[in-house]
Amino acid sequence: MTQSTHQILIIEDEPAFRNVLRVLLGVQGYKVIEAETGARGAMEARNHKPDLLLVDLGLPDRDGLMVIRDVRSWSPVPIIVLSARTMEEQKILALDAGADDYITKPFSAPDLLARVRAALRRGACGAQQGPILRFGPIRVDLAARRTRGPNGDIHLTPVEYQLLECLARNAGMVVRQNQLLREVWGPGRTDDARSLRVFIRSLRTKLEPDAPRPRYLLTETGVGYRLCGSEFTELEAGPAMSGSAQETLQSPP
Ligand code: CA
Repeated sequence: MTQSTHQILIIEDEPAFRNVLRVLLGVQGYKVIEAETGARGAMEARNHKPDLLLVDLGLPDRDGLMVIRDVRSWSPVPIIVLSARTMEEQKILALDAGADDYITKPFSAPDLLARVRAALRRGACGAQQGPILRFGPIRVDLAARRTRGPNGDIHLTPVEYQLLECLARNAGMVVRQNQLLREVWGPGRTDDARSLRVFIRSLRTKLEPDAPRPRYLLTETGVGYRLCGSEFTELEAGPAMSGSAQETLQSPP
């Protein structure tokens, strides 16, 4: 694991909350830097060039959105917003300001760590990724446009592949509805949320074990969608995508 070398800057004014984050991330081997104000945070970001920022939106000296815009003006470093605010508007403003993801307080440790790993993975240039996207019993070869489930080949339409590809590129992180619409249908259709819902529903029917209660293709209400619990793996030799691999296909991830 290379995560022990990752530096994470926490910009958060509540000491108790900072402590929890420091312990949680420290145990995982991350090096943690802390700042309790926006000004301090922006300075630490420039000084340390961390691999990831966790930014609280409600800071005593300035709005967390200002910190995000400041950092984003000179660095592509992944930024996750920590927000006590549950309003969709705030999440969208933060994503518009350049944040990569958000997490709403209170949150669970596994959830936070999964978001952190996803953000670091995306931030890592040239990260090794196998060609096969795998989640639950499903394997998708995005390049070959071939999908297999426990019962054999699953037919996905070109639009469904494009949607899945966009979600997979951002695996573990929220992808805004507008971004999905722009990437799949082009800039003229960014208001066509209905089409998007229809195709997401169809993807779930084909890929989720229980489509009405999705485990992988999750809705982020008012914001977009998130592909959870997925990983990229290497293509297995020989008939791995066919019958002989079905036992492993059916084992839990
Ligand atoms: Ca705060």
